[in-house]
Amino acid sequence: MASKKQISVGDLKIGGGERVLVQTMTNSNTEDIVSTLAQIEKVSALGCDLVRVSCPTAQSTIALQEIVKYSPIPVIADIHFNYKRAVEAIEAGAACVRINPGNTPFEGIKEIVKAAKYYEAAIRIGINSGSLEKNILDKYGEPSVDAIVESAIVNCHKLEDLDFYNFKVSVKSSDVRTSIMSYRKLSKEIDYPLHVGITEAGTFFPGSIKSAIGIGSLLIDGIGDTIRVSLSSDISDEVLVGRQILKSLGVLKNSVNIVSCPTCARTLIDVIGISTSLEKYCNSIHRNLKISVLGCVVNGIGEAKNADIGIFGFKKGVAKIYISGQEVDECPDSEAVEKVQKFIN
Ligand code: SF4
Repeated sequence: MASKKQISVGDLKIGGGERVLVQTMTNSNTEDIVSTLAQIEKVSALGCDLVRVSCPTAQSTIALQEIVKYSPIPVIADIHFNYKRAVEAIEAGAACVRINPGNTPFEGIKEIVKAAKYYEAAIRIGINSGSLEKNILDKYGEPSVDAIVESAIVNCHKLEDLDFYNFKVSVKSSDVRTSIMSYRKLSKEIDYPLHVGITEAGTFFPGSIKSAIGIGSLLIDGIGDTIRVSLSSDISDEVLVGRQILKSLGVLKNSVNIVSCPTCARTLIDVIGISTSLEKYCNSIHRNLKISVLGCVVNGIGEAKNADIGIFGFKKGVAKIYISGQEVDECPDSEAVEKVQKFIN
């Protein structure tokens, strides 16, 4: 049970039973329109649903007009400190603005809500353990689960008091347990869509694992409507890991699921090479397909029969290929990837 309330971000619906959406954030200079759009195009091709763009300067919100115009997916402006940037971003056509109540005074929030109502934009209340409001930190002494959740609820009420409801909420912490506990607690208190993620999760390998544990645990509980994997890595990695988390839970439509064995002394073909090449190739294939790559006949035939495309080692260096459960080819394992690509197409 994801959130019951549904909001609109551009032409996308979030919450209320809609599919979980994948989000990432550009790391180019927003004023550099060409580079920013190139990043957006790249992640969109990989299946990213929403993209967030930092708007720290007035020049960046001017650039945002062009970015929004040509972006293939809805653009969310990321705002800190100066509410005027949020108002400008909404005027520039941003589908949503992410605001951090820890550094945005209420007078500013009022102006942002006024603009969001007029332009039918959404807002994300982005609570972050690293930038909680001073009064809440003073009360709790540290960015605890209770502190984070209280900040979120107080700010939901602020928007409701302004008669604004088209918003989602995030309560991120760089600590996996704190994030999970905060989202679990918050989801019992409010019914707005939740954007989930582990903030500042780290570099590719540890960050992916932290995110899979955090986001995965929440999604299994039915918590989360949009996700972002925050990595100190290429932004494409965030999208691929995010999609993989959804894929692993069986909630990602139109994606290729590759089943491959860990290899052992029985392995007859280059399982690691074939599955890695196919995985790369399939990152931009948005169709429901199951492909199995196994090193020998032990489980190879069974998995091949249960997959749309199955490859397994039959003799040393020789692969058999099955399509829809039927044997269609036998070839040197070095040719298997090319043959499968042809079948996919
Ligand atoms: S499928 Fe065959 S090669 Fe792969 S791990 Fe199992 S026994 Fe080993």
